[in-house]
Amino acid sequence: MAAAASPMIEQYLALKAQAEGCLLFYRMGDFFELFFDDARLAANTLDIALTSRGEHDGAPIPMCGVPVHSSESYLARLIRAGHRVAIAEQVETPEEARKRGGSKALVARDIVRFVTAGTLTEESLLDPRSSNVLVALAPMREAIGIAACDISTGRVELEECAPAGLAAVLARVGASEVIAPEDWTGGPDGTIARPRGDFRSETGDARLKTLHRLATLDGLGHFTRPMLAGAAGLIGYLEHVGRGSLPLLLPPSARTGEQRLAMDAATRASLEITEAQGGGRAGSLAAAIDRCSTGAGSRLLSEDLSAPLTVRSEIEARLAAVAFFHRDPILRNDVRAMLRQCPDIARALGRLVAGRGSPRDLGQIRDGLAQACRVRDLLREVPEAPALLLKLIDMLGGHSAHIDHLAGALVPSPPTERSQGGFIAAGYDHGLDALRETSGNARRAIAALEAKYRDETDTASLKIKHNKVLGYFIEVPARHADKLMAADSGFTHRQTMAGAVRFNSLGLHEEASRIAEAGVHALAAEETHFETLVGEVFDRREAIAATAQALARLDVTAALAERAAEGDWCRPEIDDHPCFEVVGGRHPVVEAALARSGERFVANDCTLGPGDRLWLIGGPNMGGKSTFLRQNALIMLMAQAGGFVPARSARLGIADRLFSRVGASDNLARGRSTFMVEMVETAAILSQATANSFVILDEVGRGTSTYDGMALAWAVVEAVHEMGARCLFATHYHELARLAESCEALSLHHVRAKEWKGDLILLHELARGAADRSYGLAVARLAGLPPIVLKRAKAILDRLEKGRAETGGLAAGLGELPLFAASMQAQEENRDALREQLASLDIDALSPREALDMLYSLKKLSSD
Ligand code: ADP
Repeated sequence: MAAAASPMIEQYLALKAQAEGCLLFYRMGDFFELFFDDARLAANTLDIALTSRGEHDGAPIPMCGVPVHSSESYLARLIRAGHRVAIAEQVETPEEARKRGGSKALVARDIVRFVTAGTLTEESLLDPRSSNVLVALAPMREAIGIAACDISTGRVELEECAPAGLAAVLARVGASEVIAPEDWTGGPDGTIARPRGDFRSETGDARLKTLHRLATLDGLGHFTRPMLAGAAGLIGYLEHVGRGSLPLLLPPSARTGEQRLAMDAATRASLEITEAQGGGRAGSLAAAIDRCSTGAGSRLLSEDLSAPLTVRSEIEARLAAVAFFHRDPILRNDVRAMLRQCPDIARALGRLVAGRGSPRDLGQIRDGLAQACRVRDLLREVPEAPALLLKLIDMLGGHSAHIDHLAGALVPSPPTERSQGGFIAAGYDHGLDALRETSGNARRAIAALEAKYRDETDTASLKIKHNKVLGYFIEVPARHADKLMAADSGFTHRQTMAGAVRFNSLGLHEEASRIAEAGVHALAAEETHFETLVGEVFDRREAIAATAQALARLDVTAALAERAAEGDWCRPEIDDHPCFEVVGGRHPVVEAALARSGERFVANDCTLGPGDRLWLIGGPNMGGKSTFLRQNALIMLMAQAGGFVPARSARLGIADRLFSRVGASDNLARGRSTFMVEMVETAAILSQATANSFVILDEVGRGTSTYDGMALAWAVVEAVHEMGARCLFATHYHELARLAESCEALSLHHVRAKEWKGDLILLHELARGAADRSYGLAVARLAGLPPIVLKRAKAILDRLEKGRAETGGLAAGLGELPLFAASMQAQEENRDALREQLASLDIDALSPREALDMLYSLKKLSSD
């Protein structure tokens, strides 16, 4: 390769300058090549060989490459490692380049697409069971507009929030890529900066109207200026990464926070709703209850669990549909079996509209819609279907003409590769059939030629073969070649191999040309049909997406019923009052984990109401406190998501917010000032919880010294009690039990344990009353602490307990003195001393000097 700044490297550098922080995949023949730092980075991430090619500025240029045909898997790994990739394709053929600029002309290249985590549509790059969301943030004066979109299915949601609520929204949405204006720093780590001018509400309004051919957006919902600015940023970015072409974007819906159960990021993380603490779906609530038959169903279930409802009628509608399938296991089985046969039409549609679809995607749309019709026919027969189901049944149909059309046009299993053709069915286009017949006839003619030449040359081993370089040719072993070499043989020599010689003949050439010509025309015809079929799908995209959505909802409904039947769950009764009555409640994830090792989960009741709305729960470590707290929060959440719950019975008052906090020491591994984090998170509860909220607090205050921690825990319990929220509070501070004396709606509970012949037995059973002791040493013994250490600890404990008995313990006197009242009382005492002195003063009897002294002393008393 030529030295410094060869035309190729110049072209490369110009493209790289447009790639904006992305790795540049530079197409060279059958490879995508990477150069310079990109090459080093990619070679490292992909574990492929780093070589070099030519020189630039006197130094070798590092290079690595990936084959085009397997580039998707390399792309997937780079995207997963947090990179973005710009794809530079050859945009003319070498022949065109030569025609344009002579024999040395460089093939023109251009960036045709940016591949980023939030803009993927390829089946192989996406997880079928999780949504892939791109979020655009548009900070305006007092609110942030949020446009969230899953381009693999085209769903777009617009909302706005106060700056303080952003983290909670992002946690709910679970974005894989976030963009925001370049001059704003409020986004999460890794936010991609875009020009401020992209985020204009007027642009958003105009673009949405043009996109959906509407005169006004009013029919879709009420969109605020920040929401429209977010939409503008989103569309601008999608256009940028698609180099001018837009992916599937369905009409947006406006989301207003009040309709959903509010949960912040800390709550989501600690309840492990869609992701377990260690990362990944395994071990999460979603994984434990997901019995969906399709990827689209699993994605919708995760969305439901991430944003449960708060409107009673909507919850009841979902519950009624689940109950319907719960009652009828045969129908449930039939529907689930049919859904399993259903391809992911939402994603196939996404790929087709984005211009990255294949004949197979068209086939999936055909099969998916046909299956939807079959499901509809089945469900239409059932009597007394609930309202939600009737609505879904309606959305499943209306595609018959389109299905027939696709069925006539496509072969039964169309290929993913469209450039080879072969996907348009016979009988669909007579012109195409004729072309196929021509090449079929020519192929038969070639077979006949082979037989004829064998006879003529008397060479039984003569063969007509085909390869990419020569096309069709005649081959004979070298020892028979002489006959064909003769000047009048009618054969022309083409190639001599080690043991064989290859020839052409006029007859073969004619037949081969007929095949090639017909092939080119047939391919062109198939390509035109493909474009037309994709255009028809595009025109019907909203109806197809609605059917896909209905299938997903149906899947979630039947799957929740299946899970309920499998686990013997119950339909919760939904109440308008803030009650919480769970009988025989269980934790779905812990129960499943225990079942795998053959252990039984102990069910527990929990009853909270106006007169008894805060449970303080004590008992030994490992006794089941955390599990109990979480299971009740999850029961609340699952019910509001519209599902049955793991309990014998449940009556639940809808919660507006759900909070879950875990004391800092559980998170020590994270290394930050965890106590600080704990307090910030707790402060959020105290400022946001309402009388309709549901709060679980697990060992809050544990992240600091005993005195501080206990004092904080005490004050937090009092504040939550004051607020009226339903709350479960687990603590190992026995002293907090005294709060029962001052907080009338607080009751004491503990997880039971007993010692049996020196062994500790944890019963995982909840009982009323304060915990009698902590069994800390017994737990330590269970954990295998050396006997000598245990013995020493026992001696220290005896001393401490003796001290406590003498002084009344850490919290002596606190029962009568709620902490926040304590400082007020101290001030009050001072003021009283002042009053007493003033009252006892005989002013007339004072000398001027004594009066001055007295003033000094009063002043001092007042400032103490
Ligand atoms: P704590 O918060 O009191 O330290 P956990 O809730 O973390 O205790 O429970 C510790 C372990 O005990 C769990 O991992 C689980 O294996 C078991 N466990 C908890 N609750 C139950 C239950 N109700 N039935 C059976 N086993 C349970």
